[in-house]
Amino acid sequence: MAPRYTLARRLALVLLKDAKVKKPPVPIEELAMLLKAKIRYEPFAGQLYGMVHRNSNGTAVIGVNSMDAPNRQRFTIAHEIGHLLLHKNDDLHVDERSPIGLRNDRSSLAVDEKEIEANQFAAELIMPAEFLDKDIRRLPDDIEAEEAVTRLARKYQVSEQAMTIRLSALKLLA
Ligand SMILES: [Zn+2]
Repeated sequence: MAPRYTLARRLALVLLKDAKVKKPPVPIEELAMLLKAKIRYEPFAGQLYGMVHRNSNGTAVIGVNSMDAPNRQRFTIAHEIGHLLLHKNDDLHVDERSPIGLRNDRSSLAVDEKEIEANQFAAELIMPAEFLDKDIRRLPDDIEAEEAVTRLARKYQVSEQAMTIRLSALKLLA
């Protein structure tokens, strides 16, 4: 089965709309709360990014590695929300780091379809195309691409790497 990019995008847009999010940074913890997902920050000692556990009563717990950088934690929460909304048959999902050397942020995007879908959802949720489009047009005309990425990453509270990937995917990076 091919990754359901359109579904991931649509679910992210619906959530943003339901939560009346109009501008960055996207309040990721509030969105989790809206979905009855409780966030727990735990020091996973570098073993994993996070996990999500769905309870039978409709609530969920999202575990986030408290040792990761705040921007990474935001992406993890968004990714786990993606699993919650996209993979309803899974009660437990654990996002482990791959063995050393095999994984950087780019290759980690492509583990399997569920991961691709959850990553796509996360990108759509915390870096909505509509917001980025507007913000890019507000940047000075003569700004360097690197500086643009730095400013936008700060504004959206994401890593510069995540922002670079997102802008390239949207073909917004000149
Ligand atoms: Zn995952």
